[in-house]
Amino acid sequence: MTQRVEILGTGFDAVDLESAVRRISAMMTEPGPHLVVTANVEMVMLARRAPDVREILARASLVVADGVGVVWGSRQLGRPLPARVPGIDLAERLCREAAGRGWRLYLLGGAAGVAEAASARLRARYPGLLITGCAGGYFGPGEDRRVVEAVRRASPDLLFAGLGFPRQERWLAGRLDALGVPVVMGVGGTLDVWAGRARRAPRLWQTLGLEWSYRLLREPRRIRRQLAIPQFMGVIYLERARAAVPRLRRS
Ligand code: UDP
Repeated sequence: MTQRVEILGTGFDAVDLESAVRRISAMMTEPGPHLVVTANVEMVMLARRAPDVREILARASLVVADGVGVVWGSRQLGRPLPARVPGIDLAERLCREAAGRGWRLYLLGGAAGVAEAASARLRARYPGLLITGCAGGYFGPGEDRRVVEAVRRASPDLLFAGLGFPRQERWLAGRLDALGVPVVMGVGGTLDVWAGRARRAPRLWQTLGLEWSYRLLREPRRIRRQLAIPQFMGVIYLERARAAVPRLRRS
């Protein structure tokens, strides 16, 4: 396990995109199963009030900083994380790795047909990529066993679940052993982007760390979720002020 940096109660692995891929490659040969979480500010804030989410993050094999907010927070607290690792970038990079190394991939999530469309596009983009199964993400508790069984039968090495946050993390963590997949990871709306049903922010917005605002413009209903961002900033400033007090007193 790499060194974890604690941000408001959530431990983040100090990795960049490439070292995250190396860690995940190692997991393929280590005893598993492994849950990889790409955690953003919303997840950090949820973990503060939801003990089960806190537990999921604490037990995850790898937690990467998904977004500019977490990296900003880490710098404010004087324990800088090396880089943000956007979930979609990590997922794409893992597809390339999977194609090269022969890992079998399973796509779960999205409306009817999304996982299949994503699969077709990915196979065109990464020749040799082995996708052993696809399934939609709108199923009720009654269908849970069937979904887990379908994944087991396909015996993938890597499972991407795009069931939305935080359902996907709860779903994966609760079925980690039953699924029997070496590495599982929540990918949010990534399958929609791969399927061509949603678009990522233009490159410049991504580089400037403004991808969240682009999503907000396209999906204004996200405003309630994104209220976590100013709340996170407020708590970070408080934490920084608190941490600074003893230092000032000592001097
Ligand atoms: N989704 C799903 N099942 C659900 C709810 C959502 O498969 O019960 C899918 C949805 O179709 C979308 C993805 O989850 O493809 C991401 O949803 P959202 O934008 O809420 O998540 P985020 O990317 O912010 O994690």
